[in-house]
Amino acid sequence: MNDNDHRRFELETMTTAEARALLSGVKAALIPIGSTEQHGTNMTMNTDTRLAQAMCTKLGAAMYPDLVVLPPISVGISYHHMAFAGSMTLSPATLQAVLFDYIRSMKKHGVQRFILMNGHGGNQSALSSAATVALHELEVEVVNVFYWNLATEEIKQAAVTERYGHACEIEASFGLYLDSSIVRSDKLRTSTLHEYPMPYSGLEAGPKVDYPYPWQYLTTDGSLGDATQASREKGEALIELIAGRLQTFISSFIVRGDTYAAGK
Ligand SMILES: [Zn+2]
Repeated sequence: MNDNDHRRFELETMTTAEARALLSGVKAALIPIGSTEQHGTNMTMNTDTRLAQAMCTKLGAAMYPDLVVLPPISVGISYHHMAFAGSMTLSPATLQAVLFDYIRSMKKHGVQRFILMNGHGGNQSALSSAATVALHELEVEVVNVFYWNLATEEIKQAAVTERYGHACEIEASFGLYLDSSIVRSDKLRTSTLHEYPMPYSGLEAGPKVDYPYPWQYLTTDGSLGDATQASREKGEALIELIAGRLQTFISSFIVRGDTYAAGK
């Protein structure tokens, strides 16, 4: 892909004439959704947004002219990171309202299928609820994808440290491959972790009990694991695997003639 290629399918970089031409044949819209939140000393605040957007750009190029990539939603649900300087959060209701307005806008231009490309775990529950509402009330076909979840086993195998998932060796590897401007390569460090915070006994926080603890009780510097283990090669292998799986799925998603949204 050359440097200007993304202008062919990224809505915000088009003229209205170019948009009209693309939208007349487009099969689905990709919406990158990220966060503006601390990623320790390892990575920048816009990490989740840039990675989700880069994944969309990759798919938009590979599947041109079937997909249009919409402007990213750059602030997400980050209450749990607010103790760290610079983090911002939306409430779930605000995120959902913005998302519904994105969908209504594009539906007016004829788009009927939407893929929410989520780059931040904290957004998942709000986006999952929003997808349900959008399908039933806005009558569009919509799926929500947290791209990390598409290679859970492979990520686990690639990880050197046991705890990862935020500003860690995996996320820094994604960054080194997709957009190195979000990685502070000279400042990568190992985090200081605490046990999962849970002030009550009987069940552990995590899959058993969903306890929304603030992040500063889990990690001193804001990151997880050991980001010094990151590599571009590791990022490339995982991202290409995830992108391939997404492309296979989206190829099927866009050719279906009937949709649940249409009540068929
Ligand atoms: Zn992140």
